Formats: sequence, C-alpha cells, structure tokens
Amino acid sequence: MTLSASRRAASLLVVALTAAVLAVVTACGGTVPGHGNDAGTTTSPGGQGGASAGHGRTVVSLTFDDAWATQTVAADLLRAHHLVGTFYINSGFLGRPKRLTRTQVEALARAGNEIGGHTLTHPRLPTLSRAAQRHQICDDRRALLAMGFRPRSFAYPYGMYDRTTIAVVRGCGYDSARRSGGLAGPADRCTQCLRAEDVRATGPYELRTTPAVRRSMTLDALTSYVRQARERGGGLVAFQFHNVCDGCDEWGVRPDVLDGFFGWLEAQGVTVRRFGDVVGGSLRPMPRAAARGMAVSAGA
Ligand SMILES: [Zn+2]
Repeated sequence: MTLSASRRAASLLVVALTAAVLAVVTACGGTVPGHGNDAGTTTSPGGQGGASAGHGRTVVSLTFDDAWATQTVAADLLRAHHLVGTFYINSGFLGRPKRLTRTQVEALARAGNEIGGHTLTHPRLPTLSRAAQRHQICDDRRALLAMGFRPRSFAYPYGMYDRTTIAVVRGCGYDSARRSGGLAGPADRCTQCLRAEDVRATGPYELRTTPAVRRSMTLDALTSYVRQARERGGGLVAFQFHNVCDGCDEWGVRPDVLDGFFGWLEAQGVTVRRFGDVVGGSLRPMPRAAARGMAVSAGA
C-alpha cells in the first residue's frame, strides 16, 4: 500500500469509527436492560445491517461470559459433544462466590476451550477514563497471561464500548473484540437486519452476537439462528451465554436446552469454532508501553 493510500485508509477508518460512536441503537438487535451481565446492545457501527453476511459457510461460536461457576456444566456438555467454546473471563472474579476458580479455568483451557478476557471487574468501559479502561483491559489480560492462558479475544462488558475502548483493546494486544447482541432472529421481521456476522466486512473489534441467551430461550429458538444463517448465505453466528442452570438466573440457559443444542450442532455437522480461531491472528505479547502502565496509542 502506498503512503497516500494508507493515509486514505486511515482517514476512512476515522470516519467509520466516528460513525460508530454516533450510532446509538443496534439496527435490529433490540436492547435488553442491563443486569450485571452483557445482555445489552449499545453502539452499532454496522448501522442498518451494513455488513452482509453472505460469504458461504455458516460458522457457530459458543461463548460464555463472566466466569460463572455454573459454566463447568457447559464445559462438560461441550466435551460430551466434541465441541469447544470461548470463555471470556474476568480475572478479578476468579475464586469469588459463584465464580470459577483459577483451577477450573485451567481445566477449561486443557479441554481445548479458548480463554479470553473480559476486564478485571466488569465495568461500563465508556464511562471510564482512558487510563482506567487501560487498567481494566490490559491488567486483566496481563493477569490471564501470567496464569498461563493465551488471551487473544476480548468481550466488552455489557457490550459497551466507544472509540477509545477499541483503541485500548487493540493496544492491550487483543486480536478481536466481541459485542453483545446485534444479530436479528427469525422472529424479527425487519428486512435490513443482520442475520449473521461477516467478520471480514465488520472488522475484528466490533463483532456481533445473537441476543444474550435468557432462561426462556428454547432449543428451537437457538437452532433457528443457525438455520436462518444457513438459508441466507452463511456467516458467523456467535452465541452468548452466562449462567448454565435451571432457573437460577434470568440469563441462565437450562442445561437440558444446552445439551440439546450442542447435540443438534454435532448431529447437523455444523462448524463450531472458538471465537479467536474464526477471527484469526496470533497471540500477541503485552505491548511494552502497556506493560509499563504508560500511554498506549490507538495504533500500538
Ligand atoms: Zn460480562
């Protein structure tokens, strides 16, 4: 790329990011009240479903947020169905009541699951200063690396982020960032809605998911997201889970539903990949500036 071309690309990026911050409501993902988890959608850089998903194959990613202890149930079900998932861990929560322990996360990793980062303590990142965001994101990633994990992927708490957050996530060495919601379901009648994510078109730091899975979600509802993606040209369908339990939490998927869903994915031969493997990229070390607690520029 020539210098002028790269400058042009950089200015286009600035325009795109500005649009991202200005756009407020997801095209079709709807909003869900905040609830101490990620069940919300915020900024929607894709606007009106701008990234079409039609690039052939349907790929499913199974993601689990917030280091809930009940996710060991999910890990057992994944193993039983020969699947792997991505667990976005808040390192500051490990060992607390109702949360996973470090030993349990090590077992998740040994089973082939991806361990991603989700900040130290799950704040609303855009409400924080850049330095505070850097502390939450970089120091969480540093802690995960120190424990021997390979954090390439990040998920925004509550799905909330802005232009600064994206720059910090990139500067802390993450290859991707996942939002919360943004994909429309079969029941949504909108014509311009996004039904599956196009990773290449959207870029690695603003990737959308189906709405966070609630306790009321049925097996048919879960499979319908995959079926509609298949019918409409493919793309990435990432599911976002929190607790795995029968009635412990509004955002807890029932174990029997999850078992049925994993069994369906296996029987259908659906491609299921860890989020970081869908996006690609290698494990990056902590950037030097971030390691010293100094400013990290957007391009770092
Ligand atoms: Zn979360």
